[in-house]
Amino acid sequence: SASVRDADPEIFGAIQQELGRQRDEIELIASENIVSRAVLEAQGSVLTNKYAEGLPGKRYYGGCQYVDVVERLAIERVTKLFGCGFANVQPHSGASANAAVFFALLSPGDTFMGLNLAAGGHLTHGSPVNVSGKWFNVVPYSVRPDDHRIDMDQVRELARAHKPKLIVAGGSAYPRVIDFRAFREIADEVGAYLMVDMAHFAGLVAGGAHPSPFPHAHVVTTTTHKTLRGPRGGVILSDDEALAKKINSAVFPGMQGGPLMHVIAAKAVAFGEALRPSFKVYAKNVVENAKALAETLKSRGFDIVSGGTDTHLMLVDLRPKQLTGKVAEAALGRAHITCNKNGIPFDPEKPMVTSGVRLGTPAGTTRGFGVAEFKEVGDMISEVLDVLSQKKSDEDSLVEAAVREKVKRLVGRFPIYQD
Ligand code: PLP
Repeated sequence: SASVRDADPEIFGAIQQELGRQRDEIELIASENIVSRAVLEAQGSVLTNKYAEGLPGKRYYGGCQYVDVVERLAIERVTKLFGCGFANVQPHSGASANAAVFFALLSPGDTFMGLNLAAGGHLTHGSPVNVSGKWFNVVPYSVRPDDHRIDMDQVRELARAHKPKLIVAGGSAYPRVIDFRAFREIADEVGAYLMVDMAHFAGLVAGGAHPSPFPHAHVVTTTTHKTLRGPRGGVILSDDEALAKKINSAVFPGMQGGPLMHVIAAKAVAFGEALRPSFKVYAKNVVENAKALAETLKSRGFDIVSGGTDTHLMLVDLRPKQLTGKVAEAALGRAHITCNKNGIPFDPEKPMVTSGVRLGTPAGTTRGFGVAEFKEVGDMISEVLDVLSQKKSDEDSLVEAAVREKVKRLVGRFPIYQD
């Protein structure tokens, strides 16, 4: 049958344009990465045709002998990677993984604690607009106003007062290492489960560049597509036999139907890549590069939330430059530097405006950018935002065009998806 190029030129055209965008722009969205060709191939495979409800060896459909091989390998590799006894690799996404854990451990109306979205938490950690906030009693905790670190005294006080069944640690815009041990002590004191959502920093844990949530967490969730550099998807991990059974049945038949076997194959490929020694180098470089970018921006007069980063991401506070996240994101976009506006802790601006941008190094590091390149990226960001901040609007487009040229030269030295 015909390839997508011939069968559907409209879709093919958009895919080609997106490939061009990824090739030609500097990707600083902290939750994105650039997967290998092997991951792409596995995900684009005939495994998409297969129904495989159930688990390897215990399926509700015939013909599962080969997808069983795939899912067993995915489980074997991811448990080895994170040093735990159990994995369910079927969640379609990070949100699905979190929902399955809530379904396994909570009943509607139960109390759980999570990091406030406004302080760097994720929507699925109890935001009022998410099912996690609508169906459960959420007690959010926050960061300290002075140093923007998670306020563990507040976590302890709130846990003692509200006796949650579950405490969630992790976030989408929190740049610092989380004290998993302290969280577990609090959870034990009040009889709560501890769930760590390591979606953002899972690749750093895999590569030994960040502390592991094990043995502290009862259950760990992650996406597979951020620092871990796999296909879009989710995983649930645990070391607790009793929880394993509950989690498996929460995923299927609790929340999902048939697993996406093509995605599970791509996850297995990515886990295999993350087990190689080169991934350790990658993870270390991601963190070094993030520190270099943060320092460059600080030296150019930007504030960095919490003063820096321990991970792959940073939040840039734009208020010293009298800019909002909204205008900064748009200006950088015009210069072919892609990032997202993001609220900073205690942000005075609305969520669609914000006072910050979130920057991350996973995708650039995959292309081969090192410290020198990320310093250059920091300088380019400053050039674009400084002229914007000085309100010399007639010069904006000139500077943006000049930076676009510099971006072109830089990405040209680190090509992706050649041939
Ligand atoms: N958990 C965290 C901490 C995240 O940052 C994200 C995504 O940004 C998710 C969960 C949700 O993942 P997905 O977008 O795959 O549903």
